[in-house]
Formats: sequence, C-alpha cells, structure tokens
Amino acid sequence: MKCRECSGELEVARSCGRVRMRCTSCGKEYQIHEVAADLDDKTVAILERYTAIIYD
Ligand SMILES: [Zn+2]
Repeated sequence: MKCRECSGELEVARSCGRVRMRCTSCGKEYQIHEVAADLDDKTVAILERYTAIIYD
C-alpha cells in the first residue's frame, strides 16, 4: 500500500510491541487505525501474522 504523503511503499514496522506502517521512502509512520480503511490483502495477511505473535 502507498504512503499518503509521497506515494512511497509502506511496510509493516514492529517496535515495542506495537505494529505500525512505515513509509520506505519518506519514513512517515502511520498507526494501524489511521490506515485501516486502506489496508490491502497483502498487508492484512502480514498484520494477522504479527497480531498472532503479539497476542499469543
Ligand atoms: Zn512517504
């Protein structure tokens, strides 16, 4: 999925037990709820893997 600032690619970033989306181009970070409406299938699949880890 794309960054709202620069259209760069967002990657899932996990830190301190929280999962965020981070732009690989400009470095802007988004909380998951901020971008929830735009999540694509690929990103959702990644997040499901992370939440499985976090809440295990
Ligand atoms: Zn960006």
